[in-house]
Amino acid sequence: MPWKKNKLKTCDVRNPALSIIETLNEFQPAMIGSYPTALELLVPEQEAGNLHVHPAIIMTGGEYLSEDVRKRLSHAFGCYVQTNYSCTEGGIVACECTEHHFHINDDWVILEAVDENNRPVPLGTQSSKVLLTNLANKICPIIRFEITDRIVMGSGSCPCGNSKPWLTLEGRTDDILTFENGIKIPPLSLYAILKEVHGIRRFQLVQTAYNRLELRLIADDRQAAFAQARQALKNYLNQNGVSAELLLSEKIPEASPISGKYKHIIAKQG
Ligand SMILES: [Zn+2]
Repeated sequence: MPWKKNKLKTCDVRNPALSIIETLNEFQPAMIGSYPTALELLVPEQEAGNLHVHPAIIMTGGEYLSEDVRKRLSHAFGCYVQTNYSCTEGGIVACECTEHHFHINDDWVILEAVDENNRPVPLGTQSSKVLLTNLANKICPIIRFEITDRIVMGSGSCPCGNSKPWLTLEGRTDDILTFENGIKIPPLSLYAILKEVHGIRRFQLVQTAYNRLELRLIADDRQAAFAQARQALKNYLNQNGVSAELLLSEKIPEASPISGKYKHIIAKQG
């Protein structure tokens, strides 16, 4: 969109923090949109005065926005913080209202809340997953595509006045990784790198020590996929001043035995 050329600026979340801060300070955006974990890393920079921007609104997406991060962002940047429910296969499928309900863009997608066996669950009941049908994508049919998010379809009208159906969401909660020298890396960057590795069907990156990462993999060829993933991660981490050992784990990716939640990126505990 040429008319937006001077009004919109993008920066890659995989860039070093300093470069992102410089870009934002120079551009002075009225609105900032990004992943919650990428924005969370900017909070101490804004508080320290290295970053000095004053957006009217922050819009997050792509990851779950916790209440804690919402409050910290709102306090540091002095503005309203909103989020949406989005995914690669559906785009922005639902937008959050002032009641913190996600109103579904139902002219764009069909969302079905189902149990493990793809049977519909009643309104007000938490689903095991979601089936997404994209009504707008005329190039690649996406019909009842399985997403591993747990949602609850709302019953009754929403006090905000929006008449579209709404849901609440149990979020994806990948961790920010902190390394020995205090450098923090957002999970979405690592997720984006691993998602591009050919042959990986499922992965989980676990930080077992401050300078050691283990990759759990399900892949067509584990050794080949690991070699490619290792190189890509090493390059990215080196660019960000992190030197870490990367190992192929004997374990396969698994959900937390306590919460039942599945994480792609898990930080060192304690
Ligand atoms: Zn509402």
